[in-house]
Amino acid sequence: MEAEKSSNQYHVSQWGAFVNSKCPRCRVGSVFTGATYGFKVQKMNEVCPHCNLKFEREPGYFYVAMFVSYAFNVAQMITVSVAASVLGLGLSFENLWYFLGLLFGTTILCAPFNYRYSRMVLLYWLSPGLHYEPERSKPGA
Ligand SMILES: [Zn+2]
Repeated sequence: MEAEKSSNQYHVSQWGAFVNSKCPRCRVGSVFTGATYGFKVQKMNEVCPHCNLKFEREPGYFYVAMFVSYAFNVAQMITVSVAASVLGLGLSFENLWYFLGLLFGTTILCAPFNYRYSRMVLLYWLSPGLHYEPERSKPGA
């Protein structure tokens, strides 16, 4: 019992690590420098600062994240369009530019989020052979 507890001492939940943009292998090292929404532009680390996992597994690896980002964008636009319709601001000839501005603004506002989390979805759920290795979470691993 005691040994089991100590071996799980560094266990980090997948969802928690995903939301906080932690490395998919050790769930300790940060994938990005800077916040999603901040004054400093967010940059992706080349390797995990904790376990040295190379995030870009092959050249052009994050090309696939573009499709995830596209799916995010479509979902956000549909959500905003439905919300606008519910609020009586749905698409019509009178408010076409207002409506397009709303969609464009949504795209701009969500861009940092989409950039970060499309890559995180790719690393966490669309990368075969990349799994959580709890023993790598320990300090000095
Ligand atoms: Zn790591």
